[in-house]
Amino acid sequence: MAGELSKVPGEQAEKILKAKESPEALAQEKALTEQVVVPVNQLFASEIHGANDINWKALPVEVLPTRGLFYPTDVEITIKSAQNEEIRQWSTIDETDFVSVDKCLNFVLERCVRVNSPKGRMSWRDIKEVDRFYIIFKISELTFPNGENKLMINMRCNSEACMTAGEPYSEKLRMTSSMLQIIDIDESLMKFYDPDKRLFVVRSKTTGKEIEFTLPTVGVSSKIKSNINTKRQKEEPIDWAFYKVSPYVISDWKGLDDDAIEAMRIKSLGWNRDMILHMSAIADKMEKAVKLNAKMTCPKCNETINRALFFRGDFSIKDILSIPIGLDDLV
Ligand SMILES: [Zn+2]
Repeated sequence: MAGELSKVPGEQAEKILKAKESPEALAQEKALTEQVVVPVNQLFASEIHGANDINWKALPVEVLPTRGLFYPTDVEITIKSAQNEEIRQWSTIDETDFVSVDKCLNFVLERCVRVNSPKGRMSWRDIKEVDRFYIIFKISELTFPNGENKLMINMRCNSEACMTAGEPYSEKLRMTSSMLQIIDIDESLMKFYDPDKRLFVVRSKTTGKEIEFTLPTVGVSSKIKSNINTKRQKEEPIDWAFYKVSPYVISDWKGLDDDAIEAMRIKSLGWNRDMILHMSAIADKMEKAVKLNAKMTCPKCNETINRALFFRGDFSIKDILSIPIGLDDLV
């Protein structure tokens, strides 16, 4: 996991990498991979239920909000439409309750998304949290190809050009996944992106140590959330400074249980001040980078219109995977 915060210097890392490529190391790696085949298969067996390959459609990672930058280069994501069971579960969503929304989003991911990498087994839990909503939207579009769920949104232009030209652009439109604007990582962060490691690498000026950080996966986030819940139930003190940064430094959800998280937390107490400041600043930037907007170009003035989703009068979270039925339709 990227939780190994203090990384070995470049030269040493290169040596380790070279050693890894030796025939003995490769043979050992192969033996290890073969050994874990059974448990790994068991681990993943329950995640795709009754999948029929014909129904699975490839979702190119380049279209995701993260543009696939934080996944292995050979990752393959496929999705299928939601069936009755997923739609029934979705209908129980309580839009005012973050936990309920989280649970329903993950339920649909588990049932309707496959993530594969030829080099290693992956699952829906490896999806970056910021990509989750976009993927749910694509599943909604597969489920209701004719827009039966009526995801209507009021787009209005507030640009000065439009306002002064008379009547500003205003229209109720059908929302599509192509309009979704979820993350906007600015240059100050992107300059740390390492295309080989598929994550961000920041080198501390004072210690020279490298800090690796990534975008939280659904798997890591949900384990951390459940760990916070456990602490709440036990009325234990909650180390918010750690929870703020931990989703960005833990890259793997496998083996991440309450004990592993606690061990990391204790380790984090030994981080130096420089590292804490870096990590905290990064977490702040990331939080600001994530939004949930509909975006389009104003047809009147060509400026960009951004509208936050789930405004009053627009479609709701529940509408994404359900067909609105009036009482009149039932009688
Ligand atoms: Zn305009």
